Amino acid sequence: MNADKFVTQHGLNAPLPLYAQQCQQGFTALFEFRPYQRRFAKPLMTNHGIWDTREGIILRFVDEAGKIGWGEIAPISWFGSETLEQALDFCRQLPNEITSEIIFTIPDCLPACQFGFESALAGVLGCVNESVGRRNSSSTRPYRSGLLAAGEVALQQWKTLWEQGYRTFKWKIGVDAIAKELAIFDTLTGSLPPSAKLRLDANGGLSYVEAKLWLETCDNIQGELPIEIEFLEQPLTVDELAKMLELSRFYKTAIALDESVATLPQIINCYQHGWRGIFVIKPGIVGSPSKLHQFCQQHQIDAVFSSVFETVIGRQAALHLAVKLSRKNRAVGFGVDHFFAQAEVTSPETLWNNL
Ligand SMILES: [Mg+2]
Repeated sequence: MNADKFVTQHGLNAPLPLYAQQCQQGFTALFEFRPYQRRFAKPLMTNHGIWDTREGIILRFVDEAGKIGWGEIAPISWFGSETLEQALDFCRQLPNEITSEIIFTIPDCLPACQFGFESALAGVLGCVNESVGRRNSSSTRPYRSGLLAAGEVALQQWKTLWEQGYRTFKWKIGVDAIAKELAIFDTLTGSLPPSAKLRLDANGGLSYVEAKLWLETCDNIQGELPIEIEFLEQPLTVDELAKMLELSRFYKTAIALDESVATLPQIINCYQHGWRGIFVIKPGIVGSPSKLHQFCQQHQIDAVFSSVFETVIGRQAALHLAVKLSRKNRAVGFGVDHFFAQAEVTSPETLWNNL
């Protein structure tokens, strides 16, 4: 679907971001891509199964003037994006010279490609703030939430992250038996300093009864302890939106949707069904950043931005969006460096040359 059709279909009338407006005249650049692999220090255990290596694709555009733009395709197929193979097939069939027309007509079934190509385009046109997301930049950097692994390991992990400056933590739940997790939760909330914020992420792994128990527990703890439980993320599965809408009306603790809103068409669908709670947006797989920009500007949704374990290239583009589109002062979920076996390469050129 092209941008105009999309606008007609969803009634988007907010202005497009600058780089998309600039492309109306036409844009061409030389295009290359290289696949990458990055191992996790320990395989990630989520409600969806075990994940041991992040695989993706780096895109490099060079325009007539020699200006370079970087993009990254970092799919998570079990989360609703295309597979890596589908993304590679798409890249392989493209000509060496890429145009804005090709980029803005990437189909919605390739959301991670839409994000990667548009980011590279924005980079060539100078519309990505290079300092965003760099470790040592200060004023434009949003504060980040640190990811805690499921189970008891979280009880130690938060301390290291706290020393590194993290004040918001996200803990994975819905992995072990609920009684065991509630016991760990009790210890965790009792030991976190008063200024900490805690997010719980169930990845759709709770039953309705378990979700109620977690929400009740969170509501009660909020009255007793100074720490803030910011939200419970995706308690139920994607097809249980009606139940999550119901739960969101009964408890003080907020609910955030994540798996339910993986891509822009899903965000629009949940919005149309009345969801006015929090939306967790993973820019890396959400789809077209310019259309997301339009939607967020128009509907003023409460969005939290989150990582897909991308490299510095995808993260810079994602944080750029987060800075523009966050309305409440919420931490962004990009505190995941500690999940990788090797330290991050922070220069796009070096990253590219190593592939
Ligand atoms: Mg999540």
